[in-house]
Amino acid sequence: MKKWLVFLYLFLALTVILFCMNLFRIEQNKKKKEQQEIEEKKEKNTIEYKADQTIRVKYTKTGEIVAMDINDYLRGVVPSEMSPTYNMEALKAQALVARTYTYRKLSAHAEGEDADMCDSYAHCQAFYPKEKLFEIWRRRGYDERTILDFWDRINTAVVSTQNEIITYNGECIKAFFHASSPQGTEDISQIWGGETLSYLVKVESLEDESYSNRTSTVEINCDEFLNKLKENNLCKGYNSSDIKNIKIGDYTITGRVKNVQIRDQKVSAEKLRTMIGLKSTNFTIEIKDSTVIFHVIGYGHGVGMSQVGANYYGSHGMDYRQIIEHYYTGVKIEKLN
Ligand SMILES: [Zn+2]
Repeated sequence: MKKWLVFLYLFLALTVILFCMNLFRIEQNKKKKEQQEIEEKKEKNTIEYKADQTIRVKYTKTGEIVAMDINDYLRGVVPSEMSPTYNMEALKAQALVARTYTYRKLSAHAEGEDADMCDSYAHCQAFYPKEKLFEIWRRRGYDERTILDFWDRINTAVVSTQNEIITYNGECIKAFFHASSPQGTEDISQIWGGETLSYLVKVESLEDESYSNRTSTVEINCDEFLNKLKENNLCKGYNSSDIKNIKIGDYTITGRVKNVQIRDQKVSAEKLRTMIGLKSTNFTIEIKDSTVIFHVIGYGHGVGMSQVGANYYGSHGMDYRQIIEHYYTGVKIEKLN
């Protein structure tokens, strides 16, 4: 073969290789750009919360839908979820929790096409309009002056935290809260299917010892208990002497009861809590004759902010931001504009 022909082939081969490499690079760049655009879009989606929104609230009883300013909505939520007698900073923390919950729900479009939120505490969050709240407070025996004072406090809590939300990585957090957990809050991974969230882990919760539900007991007769279990398709074929031998099975990593052991069956403590009306899953068991006695500490699932704790910390010098940062580890408080 002639030398120049070899060179020609080599030259052609090199050209083809370079061309392919270039094509590959162009393709890579295109992919990179697309990826970047997706990331930017994702980021945009997570922080696109608008200030001072209008909320369409559905009344579950009548089906009526009423549009209102988010601040008016929150004025109806905060006192439905927390006593207006609580410390001002605790009420502000509750306003922040309620607003964050609302924005999270708004971006999830969980209420369908026509409404944004409903007034059911089980589905969204408890909401009563002003007139209804006044009526409830009157029925509880408060005089008009106190009632107006309550409304003033609620207004201050909502307005002084206006447009503030709690975020983690640019997204509204799952702002869980409960009434009381004097032995510390619960890690979310320990209940409801094991989801882990670094801002919902166990933290200390100092609480007022005079709170009426700090400790409680539930006494239940073995036969009655067995019936309840059977109604829930548990412990079939067991008898009341099996119930007498009930003991705690496992604990969660924070020291609450994960399940109880009845003969060879483990019953989830969370299920037990709703089944027989225990105030929390932080309990010990005592057997007396044919009665099972549960000694319970705290009130609620234990995840996120404790309201009684927020009240305590507020009365002991913490402001609402410190209360939020205490109960939700590593979160940010952002102001929308
Ligand atoms: Zn709802």
